[in-house]
Amino acid sequence: MDQAALATGTPKGPWGSVAPAPPACCLTEVMSEQLARQLDEENNVLPSLSDPAADLPSEDAPDTDSDLMLAQMLQLQFDREFDDQLRREERKFNGDSKVSISFENYRMVHPYEDSDSSEDEVDWQDTRHDPYKAEKPQATPRKGFTGKGKNITTKHDEETCGRKNTARMDNFAPEVLVGDGLGMDLKLSNQVFNSLKQHCYSEQRRSARLHEKKEHSTAEQAVDPRTRLLMYKMVNAGVLENINGCISTGKESVVFHADGGSLEEQPVPDEVVLKVFKTTLNEFKNRDRYIKDDYRFKDRFSKLNPRKIIRLWAEKEMHNLSRMKRAEIPCPEVVLLKKHILVMSFIGKDHVPAPKLKDAMLSPDDMKAAYHQVLHLMQQMYRECHLVHADLSEYNILWHQGKVWLIDVSQSVEPTHPHGLEFLFRDCRNVSTFFQKKGVSEAFGVHELFNAVSGLNIPIGAEDEFMAQIVALEKRNEDHVQKRGRKTFPVSLEDGGPPLKVDADD
Ligand code: ADP
Ligand code: MG
Repeated sequence: MDQAALATGTPKGPWGSVAPAPPACCLTEVMSEQLARQLDEENNVLPSLSDPAADLPSEDAPDTDSDLMLAQMLQLQFDREFDDQLRREERKFNGDSKVSISFENYRMVHPYEDSDSSEDEVDWQDTRHDPYKAEKPQATPRKGFTGKGKNITTKHDEETCGRKNTARMDNFAPEVLVGDGLGMDLKLSNQVFNSLKQHCYSEQRRSARLHEKKEHSTAEQAVDPRTRLLMYKMVNAGVLENINGCISTGKESVVFHADGGSLEEQPVPDEVVLKVFKTTLNEFKNRDRYIKDDYRFKDRFSKLNPRKIIRLWAEKEMHNLSRMKRAEIPCPEVVLLKKHILVMSFIGKDHVPAPKLKDAMLSPDDMKAAYHQVLHLMQQMYRECHLVHADLSEYNILWHQGKVWLIDVSQSVEPTHPHGLEFLFRDCRNVSTFFQKKGVSEAFGVHELFNAVSGLNIPIGAEDEFMAQIVALEKRNEDHVQKRGRKTFPVSLEDGGPPLKVDADD
């Protein structure tokens, strides 16, 4: 390189002299310069503290830099214009009419946002006035009076109290109609208010009672949900094809007709009945003595709760029917026992139950035959089954296929039951009275019938004497049972009935 060029510091290229290069500087200097410039710019953007007016964004000149803000402002303006138009239309539509239609719901701008609308300054909710709501009277201060001197008004003031009472009617139950006189500045005297209050309470209690009664009665007419479920389960399991309808609703049971399905190892008759023992416990209270003193159930009875006792009734009927069937007494055949539901064969045909002896239109010959059959069946029951029906009457004897059938044996007891003979005497009286009334001349009187069934030879004389003898015999029976000790063999083995289905929730 040329010495002269080097001396002047101007580099000289083959095409001429080159412009001098800028003086070299260090990187930190460049960076701090940039930082200083940046801070300077930021300072310029912030309003200066010395200019207080600059602090506040100008109302007249809103920041229009943001597109969104701009769009919203335009929309608001548009909505207000729309609402103005709506108001005009509303006014035009309603004119002078006393009944006006409000377009309020079509407004675009919520009254709260539309604060610069001159018409709607007051919050519309506050302006609502319910004319049927009593004005809350002014509360009396704690000192108990307001005013001074002559103008003192105590909290006992008639008018204040009256208004207070009127307002307190608001607290009555909603179903109590207090009328629309509240807006009339009514003043109810304490006496009137108290009797209204009293009436209101007793009405409430009465309606609650009525409601309860209604619920109970519906439950009684049909069956409770648990029972319904059990019945559906039987249909689901195929034991029943169909449950058709109710044959009878008695005090203690509801009887349904059903089409039989199939049950393992046991053919189910085409037509069956479901006797549902009612779980309304009250009805069974006065029947305790039939089961409580029946030694077959005695032990279990004392340990059971009332709902389970009702199952015991169904079980008892099942065992008694089984005993009777073994003695070939015409009676329903047990199909299945499930809790308090007993399924048994239907006495009747094509959904028509056999008539009760009470309703059967029998010829005198048939009536005579019926009497002899009943006498024989009572003897069979007593001697072969060791049972006293204990509710035998023309209501529980059916006439079917030219002969009598005995039903309803849940309460039947053994003759050794402490009241067994008394029950037998009552059965005899029912039977004797019925057939004698029906003109069966050879029908025994109650005492003869009793002796004929029981095989006892109680001298027939005065009724009191006869009954005294019966009670004495019962006492002797009881002593005998006591001496023998408790007879505790399981009834299901003895009677060979279908196995009891015990559910998990038992
Ligand atoms: P309750 O204890 O309610 O008197 P019952 O066993 O006497 O119950 O049945 C009531 C009625 O249902 C009977 O009077 C009878 O008409 C009808 N009934 C009951 N069982 C049968 C049955 N197996 N076949 C046909 N009808 C029956
Ligand atoms: Mg009956």
